[in-house]
Amino acid sequence: MLLGGGHAHLQVLARFAERRPRGWDALLVTPHPRQIYSGMLPGWIAGHYTLDEISIDLLPLARAAEVGLLLDAATGLDADAGVLHTRHHGSIAFDALSIDVGSGPPHTIPGAAEHGVGIRPIEGFAAAWERLRRQLHDTRGPLHVVVLGAGPGGVELAFGLRHRAIREGWSHLRVRLVGSEATPLPGAPASARTCMADKLREVGVEWEGSRRAAAIESRRIVFEDTGEAAADVCWIVTGAAPVPWLAASGLDTDDAGYVRVNGKLQSLSHANVFAAGDAASHPRPLPKSGVYAVRAGAALARSLLAFCEGMPLTEWRPQRQALYLVSTGDRHAVAVWARWSWQGSWTWRWKDLIDRRFVEGFRQSV
Ligand SMILES: Cc1cc2nc3c(=O)[nH]c(=O)nc-3n(C[C@H](O)[C@H](O)[C@H](O)COP(=O)(O)OP(=O)(O)OC[C@H]3O[C@@H](n4cnc5c(N)ncnc54)[C@H](O)[C@@H]3O)c2cc1C
Repeated sequence: MLLGGGHAHLQVLARFAERRPRGWDALLVTPHPRQIYSGMLPGWIAGHYTLDEISIDLLPLARAAEVGLLLDAATGLDADAGVLHTRHHGSIAFDALSIDVGSGPPHTIPGAAEHGVGIRPIEGFAAAWERLRRQLHDTRGPLHVVVLGAGPGGVELAFGLRHRAIREGWSHLRVRLVGSEATPLPGAPASARTCMADKLREVGVEWEGSRRAAAIESRRIVFEDTGEAAADVCWIVTGAAPVPWLAASGLDTDDAGYVRVNGKLQSLSHANVFAAGDAASHPRPLPKSGVYAVRAGAALARSLLAFCEGMPLTEWRPQRQALYLVSTGDRHAVAVWARWSWQGSWTWRWKDLIDRRFVEGFRQSV
């Protein structure tokens, strides 16, 4: 059973289309028939892509891999009994399970669930954006959108929205980015962070640094120290959290609640369970990013094949560094590699090429 149609399982499906485990039936359980590619989501908000261009259709991939597709969400897992509980199809038994359900929303801020719009699940965010887009077209009164969280995802979304506002003539829209540190992009080199702060100012995104939200209320955010900000809409991009039912599954999980795996992506407690991507806790702590989830996918496919066919499993050695390309809305991007960073329109073209190829690759494989 493949649980979740995430980045890692896309790779598994593509590889199973070439060679799938002999003598096994396989089923993909995931709530939506498409996977919206998060790397291109800010570009969709900016208006550079259509939703279709950033979506990967799971049905043809599953068909090519001879994997059944069940559109449903897991609500619980009993790893000892080998049973998955689903929202609409009751309990389903499995002999081997691979988990790639990504992260859930980090609803640790009071009021976030009621008044905020979480970036995850991405399908929910996409629907909320369509509603906001209609509202922006239909009304002319001032509208404040606050993007909470200034990591790469939050920064890209704020830039994308601002770019869209300029393009569409939404002069009534104000975009504000709120981060807990003085400059955006925590963990990136100082040059990239300063460049981002300058660029935000230049394009007209209001930057509010060193601020933590204490509560999200109807149409406003209250900060921890003092003060508040108007927020007709609050996008919450403050990081990742494990899906809540994993911790109660009987699987060995880390302190946060992610599934602990060995270097072969096999659960430390249950040899017939595997996990990859954001949902997994690897022996070498890895960033929760699509880059690592994609790389893990190829290794996961190898491990699943070997496990199902009774062959020895091989170790996956993740790369030490990953390249991050952070777009600034206007077909311009900042590239970050370890302590170095570059920027320009060529970096955006580079990102655009990589992202389009990634999505196209799955279309061509079927
Ligand atoms: C705006 C934004 C931009 C980003 N840009 C980048 C980027 O440029 N580069 C980068 O490396 N990373 C980026 N990331 C991070 C990246 O999206 C994640 O790290 C990556 O998606 C994790 O992949 P995954 O395979 O673990 O899970 P995901 O790709 O998130 O997939 C999870 C899958 O599980 C399914 N699922 C969820 N819950 C259940 C359930 N209960 N039962 C069954 N199925 C379920 C979902 O529908 C989905 O199909 C970005 C994130 C955001 C929010």
